[in-house]
Amino acid sequence: MTPLSRDYLKTKWRSARNKLPTWLPARQPDPMFQVVLIETQNSCTRTCGFCKFGLERQDPGRAVISDGIIQKIARDLQRIDYAGRISPFGINEPLLEPRIFDIIALFRQACPKAAITIASNGDCLNSKLYDRLFAAGLDYLFVDAYDDKALEKVEKFRQLANVTVNDMRHPDPTHLENRAGSVPGDEKRAAERQGSNCLRPSSMVFIRPPGQVVLCCSDMYSDRVMGDLRHDSIVDIWQNQLFCHYRETLAHEGRKNLQMCQNCSYGGKAALRGWSTPAHHHKWQEDYQAIAQRAD
Ligand code: SF4
Ligand code: SF4
Repeated sequence: MTPLSRDYLKTKWRSARNKLPTWLPARQPDPMFQVVLIETQNSCTRTCGFCKFGLERQDPGRAVISDGIIQKIARDLQRIDYAGRISPFGINEPLLEPRIFDIIALFRQACPKAAITIASNGDCLNSKLYDRLFAAGLDYLFVDAYDDKALEKVEKFRQLANVTVNDMRHPDPTHLENRAGSVPGDEKRAAERQGSNCLRPSSMVFIRPPGQVVLCCSDMYSDRVMGDLRHDSIVDIWQNQLFCHYRETLAHEGRKNLQMCQNCSYGGKAALRGWSTPAHHHKWQEDYQAIAQRAD
């Protein structure tokens, strides 16, 4: 048998290589987010030392998401029959939002299968407000009490349905995170996690005023903007090249080559839904098994 010439093999390889994309199965779209956090305005009643309100660097000014963007998010989620968690707060105090009841009612109507939850520091909470939140369609309320007075005030809500009161007067430092290096003092843990994946960008959409989707909830100042809801849909942003790049890089190289992630001490778990019906939770676990395998 005549040996095949080098040039013949090269030609064959080039021709085969040109056909490669058609042989390969198309890249599967990344699984859909399971948590949507919407920081509708950037203010709080407190200045905790492990949060942007207690740090030197501040947001440049008061910012609010417009009614139009909130309605657009609701429409985008309705279109995909979204059944994950919707939380109309970010790094802020949701009960300072005067539109909170209307916002909850809007998402309740648009996404009847979703779990709507908020976490508050309890400073503005009272019984009337509790009733209005649940009448609007809230599913679950978390209250984090940061001092004795706050804990005493919110204690009575502990007995009520669908409320969890967390005693945050002396938070365990190992449970706090450094918000991608913005909160100083956790450099050692951040250094140890340079090679680790992080599933937040595979599970969460974090929306900041005036309508930007940022990398994750550690991005307190919108340093890594993935897209802008004033121009694109939530699903288009989720599936865009930049978001996919972060997921892929985190999965295959860890954090070391990603400017914000390389300083981050967060453990890397997927964003939790916080609260859900058993059926939703089951679906969520199935989705996350797929994400975790992809990230291995
Ligand atoms: S109560 Fe929450 S949002 Fe407000 S400063 Fe403290 S940690 Fe930040
Ligand atoms: S490593 Fe930190 S900054 Fe990067 S995606 Fe995870 S939580 Fe966000």
